[in-house]
Amino acid sequence: MFTRVKGFRDIYGISYHYFNGLMSILDEHARRGGFTHIELPMLEKAGLFSKSAGNESDIVSKEMYVFSNTASNKKTEPIALRPEGTAPAVRAYIENKMYTQQYRIDKIAYAGAMFRRERPQRGRYRQFYQYGVEVFATKEPHADAELITMAYDAITEYGLKGVEVCLNSIGCKDCRREYEDALRNHFANHKDSLCQDCQERYHSRPMRLLDCKKDAQNTHTINAPKITDYLCNECGEHFDGVKNWLNTMGTPFTVDTRIVRGLDYYMRTAFELVHTPEHNNDAPSSVICGGGRYNGLVKSLGGPDVEGVGFAMGMDRIMEALMEQDKNHDDQNDQTNEDHSQTLLTADAYIATPLNTNNQTLGQSIATSITKGLRRAGLCVIMNPTCSSLKSQLKAANRYNARFTIIIGDNEIAEEALLVRDMASGEQVHIPLNLDEHNHTNTNTHTDSELCEGIVDLIFGGDVEGMADVIPDYTDYDNDDDYDYDNDDDYDDDDTNINK
Ligand code: ATP
Ligand code: MG
Repeated sequence: MFTRVKGFRDIYGISYHYFNGLMSILDEHARRGGFTHIELPMLEKAGLFSKSAGNESDIVSKEMYVFSNTASNKKTEPIALRPEGTAPAVRAYIENKMYTQQYRIDKIAYAGAMFRRERPQRGRYRQFYQYGVEVFATKEPHADAELITMAYDAITEYGLKGVEVCLNSIGCKDCRREYEDALRNHFANHKDSLCQDCQERYHSRPMRLLDCKKDAQNTHTINAPKITDYLCNECGEHFDGVKNWLNTMGTPFTVDTRIVRGLDYYMRTAFELVHTPEHNNDAPSSVICGGGRYNGLVKSLGGPDVEGVGFAMGMDRIMEALMEQDKNHDDQNDQTNEDHSQTLLTADAYIATPLNTNNQTLGQSIATSITKGLRRAGLCVIMNPTCSSLKSQLKAANRYNARFTIIIGDNEIAEEALLVRDMASGEQVHIPLNLDEHNHTNTNTHTDSELCEGIVDLIFGGDVEGMADVIPDYTDYDNDDDYDYDNDDDYDDDDTNINK
């Protein structure tokens, strides 16, 4: 038996339901915000990440999956499984000339798997999913605040509670030069109290000392100078602008001067969305979204000198947090926590065919035709090619949570009527089946269409708008009074000519 590679996992059943729900909400918020979707490749040249995130960042120095792009010994540029999405998005923005008048696209959204070789644990995987957005060519603080608001609103709409927006400004190169000196001075006499990683970062990247998880409780780290006291005028004004816009947008936030983000390309705005489970105050908080501004990045990767700001959401952590929250809510309300992975599907109809060999061909042909018609009508229908006993087929219908079972058995064929059974109430209704007209070599006969419409009427109480459009071969509207638009008083001619 093969097992999953360490740090990789399958998302299925109830987990997939949560994953997909989050994806839909994020897609919807991206649409409302005017973002264009882009599907980016999983593999990029490794140099893209060293140039953007920096060789000293954790993702490049420790976590990236890098390999050769050739089977022979021929030397080619190494390629990498993408560890993050901003650099590929910027690469695509430049390469596809989205900055030109002709192709102009300023707001892009993407979703997909990222890969980092880190120590797997809860909420930390080697393949994980990010939903990312990037906004180009605006320096306005309004853009930063809009993104933060979008992330916060989407997660709130998803239903996750206990989410906090933490905001900082890490200034520009000028403000940082002075600030980094101040940090080095502050830690100069306390280097020994820092972890090994921080001792190494002291000279090259002193700001990283602030967001070290190991030294989070170190008093020297807690009392370190704050970047916000070192911002130049322009950076200070930008930071005030972001805070003012967030207030105008009604998005709650707190300023946290220890957020520095680990990648070289960030400047000014840096933010994180942090989740702390409400039902368990002892549980550790986790960062579920990180983002910020990267004004120099597009230029440094060979593009025009345009600004950028974006975020990446950790979809795995968000969906797991909501699953946990829902489970806790169920526990508190004494609801049974059954394993949903099997019962997640709710089929509209299960087609049962308990038939003897004489009736098999005809019965299965009718069943196929009904399945096809109902699926075209948008219903979820399960048909198995089995002719076993009705009892075992009803059991199967329950396994799929079918609302209705449509029975086409020997009795039904003899009586020329289908039986539709409401699985919750046990109520059963016959629908006449005209076998003379059923041409079982053609599964789209007029009879089948009418039959399907009858079943859909029954299932939806005859309340399905646009039904006629989806039932197969029901095209002869002119001869059908129900669909004779010209005779329909409610139909206003003026309204129909909107394209003229
Ligand atoms: P962390 O400090 O937790 O390692 P990070 O700073 O490396 O996070 P980012 O590069 O900012 O993370 O990625 C954005 C988001 O993606 C994170 O806030 C997190 O929610 C998620 N994320 C990052 N790495 C992983 C991972 N290995 N597994 C699952 N989610 C991850
Ligand atoms: Mg990390």
